Amino acid sequence: MKVTDYFERSQGQTLISFEVLPPLKGGSMQDIFDILDPLMEFKPPFVDVTYHREEFVYKMQETGYYEKTAIRKRPGTVGICASIMHRYGVDAVPHLICGGFSKEETENALIDLQFLGINNVLALRGDARQFEDKFIPEPNGHKFAVDLVKQMQEMNQGIYLDTNIDKGSKTDFCIGVAGYPEKHFEAPNLDQDIQYLIDKVKAGASYIVTQMFFDNEKFFEFVDKCRAAGIMVPIVPGLKPLTRKYQLNSIPRKFFINFPEALVKEVAKADEKNIKQIGIEWCIQQSKELKAKGVPCLHYYTMGDAETTIKIASSL
Ligand code: FAD
Repeated sequence: MKVTDYFERSQGQTLISFEVLPPLKGGSMQDIFDILDPLMEFKPPFVDVTYHREEFVYKMQETGYYEKTAIRKRPGTVGICASIMHRYGVDAVPHLICGGFSKEETENALIDLQFLGINNVLALRGDARQFEDKFIPEPNGHKFAVDLVKQMQEMNQGIYLDTNIDKGSKTDFCIGVAGYPEKHFEAPNLDQDIQYLIDKVKAGASYIVTQMFFDNEKFFEFVDKCRAAGIMVPIVPGLKPLTRKYQLNSIPRKFFINFPEALVKEVAKADEKNIKQIGIEWCIQQSKELKAKGVPCLHYYTMGDAETTIKIASSL
């Protein structure tokens, strides 16, 4: 079923969904099942699986010169999504990115997904590779997420890259995209970022999942701005609890978000052993308020930590 159908059928109830990471190389499907098995009691209608493109590493050769090598640290999402759907009977939502994919490779990936009955996709641009200072698309690849959305929407109309396929079967993808309550770090300002979000929705995106945030006001203001700009699709808050003290610095550096002063003060004066509990309680309060305001779904970034997510979800 489509993610948006779940929202429509929920009759105003707030759903719960989770996001998992493919295990590091050497791991197995069991690593994902270990995280998802205990989370199934919360009856998530769908589970997202993130995508991680290959990275470059520089290896010294016998000659003393360094050679640039591409390595994949985590497997792709197609097989993982199929396994999740098979085991739990819930919908799996693979994240598909522009980075590292030509348009042909994107089409092939989408054909595989369609073939396996995976018809929800979160369409993203992806970030710059390590050692690259900006996002560089593949030759004949997409530059922005909106272009990926357009390609998927064309396939939904039976239009493929290979024009010899003049009667291609229509895919039926429900397309989600990312939104940033505190703006994407490259955007000149939030209003401009929302203009680009409008483009993604006009191109065919039917729901938005947000970047994590720790201050609900930022989310509410973002939703108000989106609505005022004419974006009427469901907006799902993405949530992650703070679990370690060092994240006060690492999360803003990596995700370009701010922590509210009250949380910073509480964490700064606490012992490391108490940080996780503080983060869990903060996330519970966030979740309760978001639920009371009627968000369609609470989407938790599990980051491989089922126990913490269970504590939050079971308090709702
Ligand atoms: P876009 O929508 O393309 O926007 C990127 C930037 O370009 C923004 O600053 C935007 O304002 C600007 N922009 C957009 N259109 C235009 C235009 N026409 N002209 C000029 N500027 C424009 N990354 C992964 O690698 N794997 C994942 O699984 C993954 N999952 C994610 C899930 C969520 C919910 C979120 C919020 C992010 C996720 N990311 C993931 C990170 C994401 O790939 C990065 O944040 C990336 O930098 C931007 O992706 P986007 O889809 O928002 O890009």
